[in-house]
Amino acid sequence: MDTAEEADICRVCRSEGTPDKPLYHPCVCTGSIKFIHQECLVQWLKHSRKEYCELCKHRFAFTPSNISQLMSEAY
Ligand SMILES: [Zn+2]
Ligand SMILES: [Zn+2]
Repeated sequence: MDTAEEADICRVCRSEGTPDKPLYHPCVCTGSIKFIHQECLVQWLKHSRKEYCELCKHRFAFTPSNISQLMSEAY
């Protein structure tokens, strides 16, 4: 599945970052699962109802108010 390119990709949707949807590194995971789109992270947070990474247990580096705002906009 992997190509020769080692571009940074989102761990959720496997897409690269774009100017519209830049990749974030909100926790301390490393390697191929390091990056995630803010949009994908918000979706994940909505489903998991967690504010921390279940892999590294690091609390995501988004402010709660920012997350609630994004979540309320999504609803
Ligand atoms: Zn994504
Ligand atoms: Zn993590």
